[in-house]
Amino acid sequence: MPAILKYGLQPGLMVCVLTLWYYYHESSWVYLFVVVFLQVLLGALEYRWPARPEWVHAPRYKGALVGVFILTYLFGLFFADPANAATVNAALSELRENLGLDIWPTQWPLVAQAVLALFCSEFIWYWLHRAEHASQWLWRLSAHGSHHAFQNLGAINAGANHPLEILLVLALPSAIVELLFGAGAAVGGAYLLLLTLAFLAHSNLDLNSKVIGWLFTTNRHHIHHHSVKIDESNTNFGCAVILWDRVFGTFRDAYTVQTGTGPTQPSLWNIFLMPIREPEDTQTAPRNNAAD
Ligand SMILES: [Zn+2]
Repeated sequence: MPAILKYGLQPGLMVCVLTLWYYYHESSWVYLFVVVFLQVLLGALEYRWPARPEWVHAPRYKGALVGVFILTYLFGLFFADPANAATVNAALSELRENLGLDIWPTQWPLVAQAVLALFCSEFIWYWLHRAEHASQWLWRLSAHGSHHAFQNLGAINAGANHPLEILLVLALPSAIVELLFGAGAAVGGAYLLLLTLAFLAHSNLDLNSKVIGWLFTTNRHHIHHHSVKIDESNTNFGCAVILWDRVFGTFRDAYTVQTGTGPTQPSLWNIFLMPIREPEDTQTAPRNNAAD
């Protein structure tokens, strides 16, 4: 891959997406546009300059992953329905007032608020994600294993999440920051930045990890989290921000040989069933008894 892309793609896309959001944040179309544009761009780059040619998805398999991605997106939209959000919003706003939590720096420039909201929501995600990897019943209930079950990663894998996980875990960090701390519109910018970083973190591209990797997650970090080896998988819990892993001692900078939950990748149907039936060859699921 040309050096300009290796060093410039991640910071360049972060700046472009934040700038686009700043000018168009009142349009809900900006979110769909960014998702489609980034997936097409990163997908094309992965075919042209794959970091690991053996990981390139065959067209039929890629089509199946795109289908999963679209279903995931539609499912997320269904639960972001304004009627549901309004009920939760009112309840949490009242809680915020009662607790005196109107502490959000609304006087800051909007882009700075969006970056702050990303660091706050990723702090919450860091602990939720770490709990998913520490507890057998949380791992099963949240279906986090389904996201880990895929072996050869690409940007499209950022959208391969089980509906249960979207419902119970993934939507929580942004919602808490928006509603409990009153971050308001800034959460939209944080969310777009999160999607951009999550797509890049799963991408099969040779991206630079230095300097930008002090604060933000790069694909070298996140692919390590997807390692089939459990001790490697229990590192780098931040999907967009790596700072919290550095602070809390779970950061690891190392090459990853293979991703997934075991020697073979389960079928899509068996990945969907993982909350009730863990594949027999799973190596990365937390154990019931930590002393084992
Ligand atoms: Zn994980």
